[in-house]
Amino acid sequence: MSKVSYYLQDHLSGEVMDSTDARRYFSTDASVFTITPTLAVYPRNEADIRKTARFTWQLAERGRLLPITARGSGTDQTGAALGTGIIMALPAHMHRILELDSRGGKVLVEPGLNYGKLQQTLMTHGHFIPAAPSSMEYSTVGGAVANNASGDRSFKYGDTRLYVESLRVVLANGEVITTKPLAKRELSKKLGLATLEGEVYRRVDALIEENEKLITGLKLNVTKNSAGYDIWDVKTKNTFDLTPLFVGSEGTLGIISEISFRTIPYNPSKTLLLGTFDDITSIAEAVRELRSMSELPSSIELVDKGVFELLHETHPNLLKDPLLNPYPNFVLLVEFDDINERSQKRDAKKAQKILTQYAKAIKIATTSETQLEFHRIRQSVAAIINQNRGNLRALPIIEDGIVPPESLADYLDGIYQMLAKNHIKTAVWGHVGDANLIIQPYLDLSQVGDRQTIFRLLEEYTALITRLGGSTSAGHGDGRLRGPYLEKIYGSEIYDLFQKVKQIFDPYGTMNPGVKMNVGVDDIKALLRHDYDVGAGYEHLPMR
Ligand SMILES: Cc1cc2nc3c(=O)[nH]c(=O)nc-3n(C[C@H](O)[C@H](O)[C@H](O)COP(=O)(O)OP(=O)(O)OC[C@H]3O[C@@H](n4cnc5c(N)ncnc54)[C@H](O)[C@@H]3O)c2cc1C
Repeated sequence: MSKVSYYLQDHLSGEVMDSTDARRYFSTDASVFTITPTLAVYPRNEADIRKTARFTWQLAERGRLLPITARGSGTDQTGAALGTGIIMALPAHMHRILELDSRGGKVLVEPGLNYGKLQQTLMTHGHFIPAAPSSMEYSTVGGAVANNASGDRSFKYGDTRLYVESLRVVLANGEVITTKPLAKRELSKKLGLATLEGEVYRRVDALIEENEKLITGLKLNVTKNSAGYDIWDVKTKNTFDLTPLFVGSEGTLGIISEISFRTIPYNPSKTLLLGTFDDITSIAEAVRELRSMSELPSSIELVDKGVFELLHETHPNLLKDPLLNPYPNFVLLVEFDDINERSQKRDAKKAQKILTQYAKAIKIATTSETQLEFHRIRQSVAAIINQNRGNLRALPIIEDGIVPPESLADYLDGIYQMLAKNHIKTAVWGHVGDANLIIQPYLDLSQVGDRQTIFRLLEEYTALITRLGGSTSAGHGDGRLRGPYLEKIYGSEIYDLFQKVKQIFDPYGTMNPGVKMNVGVDDIKALLRHDYDVGAGYEHLPMR
């Protein structure tokens, strides 16, 4: 054991590991990158996180950088759960539900808690968090908050940030703060503190005040967003809240040690419609009309023919009913979940009318059995992600872009043109109601040509999304993968503000450096793996 590990082990109640095996285990996440850390800490409680942060801060004061990367289940697809220094492995001990108010719907949890477990518990009380990612069965709530994750029902209910009421966060120097909306008088108290917390409040307040016009003028017009820092929601007319900055910050501003979530009532009984389409214009028109319904669908999901063709080769059982060959170019799945059964039926009828104008064929599922069959079409993309084709793997590199909803047709067109130009045959699917598409092209990381293709695709993809005024990350985060492109999508003035935010919270760069901010294309080229697998994902058959 190294001196540093020994010192930490002596001071923490959790375990410290610097064995080759542990370091190898934490050297990958679900991204195309690899970095071997120095050691892993398994904090038993908040005090362990605090002491570790304090230790790395003191080292940094003496000129030695030993960064900390908070880690949930490591399903991050952007390399944000990797780091050269200390991996703070939260699921081992910090995985408890601390308080559950089943009436009010509030729940207080530790960050390493499995999201699926929390959701299951909430559902037994008739509640849920509708922003859960499709990876929830094998990821943590801390990871979801740090990525501002979202899922299919975010179409109606929004992303994670809307469900986080307050946080406890360990700052870079080991101080612990609680974030929540503060009234003016409470803010004044914070501004007067002679601590890092006080400095953070003073400097963030001044930054927002001085740049108010710039900030309001340059918000991306998308329905969900994990790119950059959310400087738009910190200050409202009557409140000041640091929570939005931490949600989506990917462990680069501090380590979340407790989360208070707001939940909403859950209705298991739904209506699901399926429409088949031949062309992009009809899809875009149908989505536009569905978006303007007075009562929104709970989700609008897309699966394209590429999915069916790939599954036809490997998993024909997933394609039996309700889709028969020849497969349509596109399938749209539209779900309604209104708690009032009559309203739900009425809205589904309205949607059916909309689909009738644009779809080739429509089916409706009212029983849970048929709904399961329909959903299976969308969930079958999991088989694509998990199934390698020789050395080819479905790589998460352009898997999270989102554009303004009115640009959906241009986005789909642009994506298919880009794939054709690069001779890439693949599948496209996603949360089309939000104009958020998922594409995981099959490439071989051991081939120089394919490694170059990754960066060509990233460039072209970013250019397309930037031209349409979108964000390269709806819910998966910038991480290392998209950090180099952040300035392109926001422009230099906003990027400069992001840099100032990072500097305020993390002056020595100990909080997950190389993620989101201050990372270039050459930096990440050097981190590319030579092979790829979904790791622990094989146990779960990850869904998207
Ligand atoms: C097949 C597949 C499907 C996916 N589907 C979705 C989806 O539908 N929607 C979606 O949004 N994402 C999706 N993801 C991405 C990812 O699974 C989610 O964002 C998930 O919420 C990450 O959780 P995790 O526990 O694995 O976090 P990790 O991967 O361990 O970490 C993610 C980030 O959070 C930071 N972090 C973790 N814990 C803390 C903490 N306590 N304090 C501060 N920072 C912390 C890490 O440093 C890292 O930056 C998918 C991934 C895969 C592989």
